[in-house]
Amino acid sequence: MVERDVDVVIAGAGPAGSTLAQRLALAGRRVALVEKRRFPRAKVCGEFLSPECRPLFAELGVLDAIVAHGARRVRGLELHGWEHSALGRYGPLGRATSEEPHGLALRREVLDELLLERALSTGGVEFFAETAVLGLIRENGAVRGLVARGRDGATCELRARFTVGADGVRSRVAEELGVREPLAWLDKLALSAHVVDVAWNDVAEVHFFDRGYFACAPVDGGRVCVNLVVDRAAYRAAALAPHEYFERLLERAPKLRERVRGPLGFARVTGLGPLAFRTTAQTFDGAALVGDACGYIDPVTGDGVFLALRGARLLAVALDEALSAGRIDRAALDGYVAGRKRELAPRTVAAKLLQRALAHPRVSRSALAVLDARPGLADLAVAVAGDQLPLSDLLRPGVWRRAFARRRSTEPRA
Ligand SMILES: Cc1cc2nc3c(=O)[nH]c(=O)nc-3n(C[C@H](O)[C@H](O)[C@H](O)COP(=O)(O)OP(=O)(O)OC[C@H]3O[C@@H](n4cnc5c(N)ncnc54)[C@H](O)[C@@H]3O)c2cc1C
Repeated sequence: MVERDVDVVIAGAGPAGSTLAQRLALAGRRVALVEKRRFPRAKVCGEFLSPECRPLFAELGVLDAIVAHGARRVRGLELHGWEHSALGRYGPLGRATSEEPHGLALRREVLDELLLERALSTGGVEFFAETAVLGLIRENGAVRGLVARGRDGATCELRARFTVGADGVRSRVAEELGVREPLAWLDKLALSAHVVDVAWNDVAEVHFFDRGYFACAPVDGGRVCVNLVVDRAAYRAAALAPHEYFERLLERAPKLRERVRGPLGFARVTGLGPLAFRTTAQTFDGAALVGDACGYIDPVTGDGVFLALRGARLLAVALDEALSAGRIDRAALDGYVAGRKRELAPRTVAAKLLQRALAHPRVSRSALAVLDARPGLADLAVAVAGDQLPLSDLLRPGVWRRAFARRRSTEPRA
């Protein structure tokens, strides 16, 4: 049996896990990072990186590599549906921080590999590849590490001052801690594909239809990442293979269908669902959750990676302080809880409200008609959804004045 005793053991090497590992290693902590899949690995994702990811990538020292690996610039988001179209562009609004506002888009198998490589380059992270976390080690009510199994069947017992679940929407760690709850009212499924040979410019697109949508982003290598998100019950009732269902639903998005002509150029449609769940706590004696493992709503706002990076940043500070103070109790991570409440919780509330609205096609239809007529409001909507504009800026009357001032007739479409 493999045994280790480290400061922090992290389950999952997605954006949350790898960047947390990097930050802790750079702070001089001994870190073990455990990942069950073989890297580089694909991940069902829209692959759009909101503008506010860029400063975080720069801080982590990976922005140049991301650009060098072909990340596409995304300058806005075009919304289509019910015969309306609205283009929201990233631009100077409120106290938005990006100097030259644009998002990026890159396949996750490329992005996540770069983030992992960067973490390992610190020299302070021991990586357990293709090793699945099975359960937690507990002593006197506190989590003291985890048990995992490698591809060769060998068991690892990785003991640590802190154990972190960064293991995504199906978090084993959250499950073991007994805090994971599905959101029954939002039972969605995503089908994801890369499409080639499609004319595309520098915006992402969302094509809405009743109770579903396609989200698309142009990624590296001339591909377009297309994700279909629908009610899981509707997918089950159709009883079709994933690629057949994907093709059939394309008919509901005529502006997308007209460019993605059949037969489709993609080899594989991968699925993920249910997507939505919440956790009742994110910190514990000797443990914490970060990224999607904390809970997930729906991908329509395209900010999951930002939330993972930002959450990891907050947790790294809290863990480092707790370790310096020689503490492993839950209260030692209160700074992380407060940071999440301040920075991340408002986004979760906004995402839930958006989902409630999307569940009513009449509401979505009217909202899209308003955005179509008022492009300034579309700019505002994408700036908020893309994390470019702090939600608190919506309280500033100047932001709304500028948004209402921009009319459709004066703005040429990109
Ligand atoms: C359809 C869809 C579209 C999306 N579109 C976007 C988008 O355009 N932009 C955006 O920013 N976000 C998007 N998201 C959300 C984004 O993908 C996630 O928020 C992001 O990946 C969270 O990162 P993470 O590190 O928390 O988890 P993940 O990226 O899921 O990483 C978790 C890692 O843990 C590993 N793991 C799981 N279980 C175990 C175990 N037992 N033992 C060891 N390892 C384990 C997994 O293999 C994985 O590598 C989308 C999500 C979906 C479903």
